[in-house]
Amino acid sequence: MIKGTTKLLGVIGDPIRHSLSPVMHNAAIAHLGVDYVYLPFPVKAQDLKLVLDGFAAIGLVGFNVTIPHKQAIFPFLTEVSELAQAVGAVNTVWRTEQGWAGTNTDVDGFLAPLRQLDQESWQQKCAVILGTGGAARAVVAGCAALGLGQVHVVGRNLEKLTAFQHSWQHSWQHSSGFVIPQVHPWETLPDWVAQADLLVNTTPVGMAPDLEQSPVEPTVMQNFKPGAIAYDLIYTPNPTQFLKLAQAQGSTTINGLEMLVQQGAQALEIWLNQPAPVEIMTHALRSWGVGSRE
Ligand code: NAP
Repeated sequence: MIKGTTKLLGVIGDPIRHSLSPVMHNAAIAHLGVDYVYLPFPVKAQDLKLVLDGFAAIGLVGFNVTIPHKQAIFPFLTEVSELAQAVGAVNTVWRTEQGWAGTNTDVDGFLAPLRQLDQESWQQKCAVILGTGGAARAVVAGCAALGLGQVHVVGRNLEKLTAFQHSWQHSWQHSSGFVIPQVHPWETLPDWVAQADLLVNTTPVGMAPDLEQSPVEPTVMQNFKPGAIAYDLIYTPNPTQFLKLAQAQGSTTINGLEMLVQQGAQALEIWLNQPAPVEIMTHALRSWGVGSRE
């Protein structure tokens, strides 16, 4: 129940009406019985500072950040985690005595299902990432955190590929022994699919209305190693055509639902300073049709 004492959480973005975050966070809040509510806030780019000042004035505890504010919010934060600096995007913000602090929970969200797998040595493995957008940045940082020996990014736009590679060449990554990703044009995809131990789709190919599409052609997927892992960041449909093709090869497959839940769970833990009910959050999303077959 919302009372006079209820504390505010939320998500800012433009548009925000399709955000799934209120569904999973309010389910978690209800389950935990804590005095919070999580709201969607439509925020135009030009109003970002105004909104942050307003949030501070009313004592809002924390919020998620989505498109188009994930980079634009940096100048308004007094503290940004190394991880968020490396990724170049903030998706979780909370209030400190000094001001707003931000981090990126997408990286740990991406890593959560991989960390549950019984892999002996990620250092010997080769990751191949499809796409160069915002999600691909979190995936590259995740591959660095796992210590993957080789990270290859395949994209369809040469300019964006080059910019993507350059964006990783600053000191934080070097000091952490970070392997700068190599980038490759889309035409070379068949070679990289055959070499991949971890193949990650960060493109939207396979989402509605193109449910029969896969970013990797069926004939190319036939060369995907049976012991390799196919990871699709798409959460609906589940499985995507890409994951169906990987399953036919006998590969391990992971869809995007757990990443979605885990990035939210980590944000909630930051705000509430207590463990998040991951199963309740997953169940809430599933009841909303997330992770369904179509
Ligand atoms: P984004 O910034 O728009 O990036 C999309 C990338 O896919 C771009 O590099 C784009 O290339 C590429 N692409 C689009 N269509 C393509 C095609 N037909 N062939 C080859 N490449 C294509 O989007 P994003 O924020 O990274 O999100 C990407 C996907 O990840 C979405 O499906 C999103 O739902 C999912 N996601 C899931 C989670 C999760 O928690 N599970 C989190 C974040 C994102 P161009 O730049 O050339 O257009």
